[in-house]
Amino acid sequence: MILKRREFLKFISIAAAGTPLFANGRDKLYIKLPPKKLEYYHLKGKKDGGRVLIIGGIHGNEIGAYKAADILVDNELKRGELLIIPRSNFTSILANVRGYNGDMNRKFDHISKKDPDYYYIQMLKDIILSYKPDVVISMHDGYGFASRQERAWGQSVVIDEVRYKNFDLLTPARFVMNNSNKYLKHKIVVLNTKTFSGRFHKEQKKALTGWCLKNNIKAFCIEASKQLPTLKDKVHTHLVMLREFFKIYNIEFEGGMERIVNGFELNNKKNPKLILNVNNQKIIVKNNETLKIKRGSIIEVTDIDGERGDFIVPHGVNLNWRSFHFKNLRFFIKRDYQKIFSIDIKEV
Ligand SMILES: [Zn+2]
Repeated sequence: MILKRREFLKFISIAAAGTPLFANGRDKLYIKLPPKKLEYYHLKGKKDGGRVLIIGGIHGNEIGAYKAADILVDNELKRGELLIIPRSNFTSILANVRGYNGDMNRKFDHISKKDPDYYYIQMLKDIILSYKPDVVISMHDGYGFASRQERAWGQSVVIDEVRYKNFDLLTPARFVMNNSNKYLKHKIVVLNTKTFSGRFHKEQKKALTGWCLKNNIKAFCIEASKQLPTLKDKVHTHLVMLREFFKIYNIEFEGGMERIVNGFELNNKKNPKLILNVNNQKIIVKNNETLKIKRGSIIEVTDIDGERGDFIVPHGVNLNWRSFHFKNLRFFIKRDYQKIFSIDIKEV
């Protein structure tokens, strides 16, 4: 249905008055969720240094990767610049799956406008091309231990080629490996996918790092292992590897990177506050509450006041949906993959 502008305004005003948007919506509740924005954080030191773009969370179940990226956001830089995108695939993070809408890391060459990941891929590309960093680091938690298992990606620095155009990829990757291994129990190795010259990893051309290289931006993947015993171990592995990249690119934190590598905290305890607008009335909801709302009402989630990574998730509903009708439904607030808050909303 294509609406002319005037018809569109009429359509919206009818909807806002509480009349059903769809024929069967009359007796139900209608909820509007906030957009899942692609959040990025820019840190800049007073002294000149390199410019590094860090991308976490392309695979939503690789918790060590996006938590490590997120931890950096709370620190101040002394030298250089960092642009950090901890949660590039937030929908998949909330679902705690690799790719809720398929593998996002295979969509950089081509993506359909109908794909729910379209906006995020376009945003990522726009940011990379406009920021033009010295290097992009794509963070992952891979399967197994690459040093002792074939086809394992865990505990590695991944390069697409030994050399690509003018970029020497092997030397920095080896530097990161050799220095990181002084601090890691599970040693890392350098994996070369030979994305452009080889036969086995052509799919990597569709990945973020392959796309970056084709656009003349240096890029690496770093992988902790999904099989490390704790989340803390995974985050630690990432921070140890990043510390070495930061040496190469002349990035320094206030207080030093040692403080972050050895003293990071995973538990931020702030309880979220859920703020709704129900028929133009503000309601602040508490954890475990049951809200009874008159049928036909419109509920808008205006704010989730909590930590980065907090978002509202309706139980059993498609996570791509921004608005829908329902009668009785449980909602969770998730802090990334963890449920930390629940409410029930029922029509009366
Ligand atoms: Zn991954």
